[in-house]
Amino acid sequence: MKSPPTHFFFKHNSMLLRCLIFILGICSINRSNICCDQPFANPLSFSVIQSSLKQLKIEGYFSFKNFDHVAKDFGNIYHFLPSAVLYPKSVSDISSTIKHIFDMGTTTDLTVAARGHGHSVEGQAQAYKGVIISMESLRAPVMRFHTGELPFVDVSAGELWINILHESLKLGLTPKSWTDYLHLTVGGTLSNAGISGQAFKHGPQTNNVYQLEVVTGKGEVITCSEEQNADLFYGVLGGLGQFGIITRARIALQPAPKKVKWIRVLYSDFSTFSNDQEQLISSKDSFDYIEGFVIINRTGLLNNWRTTFNPKDPLLARKFSSEGKVLYCLEVAKYFNPEETTNTDQNIDALLSKLNYIESTLFQSEVSYVEFLDRVHISEMKLQEKGLWDVPHPWLNLLIPKSKIHYFAQEVFGKILTDTSHGPILIYPVNKSKYSNHHHSHRTSMVTPEEDIMYLIAFLSSAMPSSTGKDGLEHILDKNKKILNFCQKAHIGMKRYLPHYTTQEDWKVHFGPRWETFARRKSTYDPLAILAPGQRIFKRASLLQQQ
Ligand code: FAD
Repeated sequence: MKSPPTHFFFKHNSMLLRCLIFILGICSINRSNICCDQPFANPLSFSVIQSSLKQLKIEGYFSFKNFDHVAKDFGNIYHFLPSAVLYPKSVSDISSTIKHIFDMGTTTDLTVAARGHGHSVEGQAQAYKGVIISMESLRAPVMRFHTGELPFVDVSAGELWINILHESLKLGLTPKSWTDYLHLTVGGTLSNAGISGQAFKHGPQTNNVYQLEVVTGKGEVITCSEEQNADLFYGVLGGLGQFGIITRARIALQPAPKKVKWIRVLYSDFSTFSNDQEQLISSKDSFDYIEGFVIINRTGLLNNWRTTFNPKDPLLARKFSSEGKVLYCLEVAKYFNPEETTNTDQNIDALLSKLNYIESTLFQSEVSYVEFLDRVHISEMKLQEKGLWDVPHPWLNLLIPKSKIHYFAQEVFGKILTDTSHGPILIYPVNKSKYSNHHHSHRTSMVTPEEDIMYLIAFLSSAMPSSTGKDGLEHILDKNKKILNFCQKAHIGMKRYLPHYTTQEDWKVHFGPRWETFARRKSTYDPLAILAPGQRIFKRASLLQQQ
């Protein structure tokens, strides 16, 4: 693991490194003192900044201690301590703070990171010695629904998707596109994309937003949409928090179903599996949700499924053995209302009859719409109970073009990876041209492979704290590196989703021809590079760093 150049990270629970940070902290204070001697450089000390922040007239408040929770994320690998946390009550709290820091110009190297639910995995929502804005405390505006032909809801960007789901359902409505886990904020997922099993139909969450309110890196509050300030609108969607802090979002809604038929089937041959997935995402009348995952050498797999699913043919299912095999599971769902049950069943039978899965492995379940969408939360609670939710998560998310997916699967599943005991591996295709507003997706900041159909592959590993074995962090990071090296050597044309790089050169390669637009937007909306330093794309402009 490379050390970030200007930042400093340390692993969980390491007292020794904490001490080292303290000593380095003292050294850097000395360094600023040296800087003060320079005629052209006059960096402000943090105590000056702190007292100036305290004087800002805001409705919320700043905290200058107890940072542990914001120096942590779901990844539990990077821990950067900030200098202050803003708990905003209003958009103007956020704009006043950023404007104040912007007006200090290059006399400080203070950065600002919006923190949604802190479910990034590589420190993206952290800011070493900077100011964290706790977006969840921004409760304004209260959720406001607009019913009618094109229903939508205006929400604070610090709102969790699960809350939006519950509130929308009271009006019989629902957002269209989701993530697999709903305890994430609107601002956090829109800064990436928000991809799940509905994306083949509706596009990612970034394609289902009508309007945003954004506070730029200069502290201006700007409303933007396809029609108004479109450059900022598209820039911020998938923009990794680089151009502004999203404070409000207008999210597209549709009528909500009450129930869901949830289905899993298995394949032993990758081509048959991926052909079926591709056929399903391309057909007109398909399922409402299409995902899939890989299972390598698992014992008693179908038995585990029985807690949620029922086998269509229990006798045959019992005879099926998953041990020693590489299997591919297609997971699909169809939404319906109770009065449409018969029709839905016929519809599902017709869809399944066109697929080529292993017959004995058809498992079905019927759950409420909320239970289906909030399914990962159930697993979370089980893992929480066992103390296995807060472990390090060296996750790796890749977007692979369709033309290379067979080669990728052949080399990675069963060869580089010989088991899947450290966490699920998701794999499913998304058809970009099928999004209703396809045009929209080309203009957001999200980077995807060139081809129309791409596969999302998510290696969602959990590492056992302090293990040095196969389930340890180092071992899993090493496997991730092998997969990335393979992609590079084999010219897979892969793009990382939820990308993480430590040098600007790597970021340029990531963005490819889109780097110019990305960098131009940065200099327009956040010229001092104050925002989202945890992404490590741009360096904060400051006299301190020019020394
Ligand atoms: P944070 O981690 O708090 O922030 C992420 C980045 O966005 C940071 O750089 C931060 O500074 C910036 N940011 C936060 N809020 C704002 C804002 N209001 N304005 C501007 N910038 C902001 N992703 C998918 O696409 N599909 C999935 O199915 C999926 N499943 C997941 C399941 C789990 C269990 C977890 C932990 C993550 C999953 N993710 C998934 C990834 C997730 O969407 C991202 O990590 C997302 O950024 C997390 O949201 P957050 O609110 O925790 O954001």
